[in-house]
Amino acid sequence: MSARLRQGLLKRGRVLATLLADVLAGKPVAPKLGTLGIAGKPGMRPEEKLRWALDQIEQRRALLDAGDDSFGRCEICDVDLGDAALGEMAWADRCQAHAHL
Ligand SMILES: [Zn+2]
Repeated sequence: MSARLRQGLLKRGRVLATLLADVLAGKPVAPKLGTLGIAGKPGMRPEEKLRWALDQIEQRRALLDAGDDSFGRCEICDVDLGDAALGEMAWADRCQAHAHL
């Protein structure tokens, strides 16, 4: 399972890095951020949102590599997110209930 999760994280990281390069090249990426579910925090510019999302990926990868038990759990309520959800979104760090906080 963890090899597949690591692949998912790497793939997501590549997508984000490509978008960040686009932003820095002056291309419009805001609509894509919405499609990819990159919310960031209120008031962030697209570049900041992408750097924030890349940081999240990096943190999840570090947890995964360390075999940390908090990987795959909601950071708010600690519920296990489950293999199905993580298979879709290996970088998930929130459950449904807390996804939009
Ligand atoms: Zn939760």
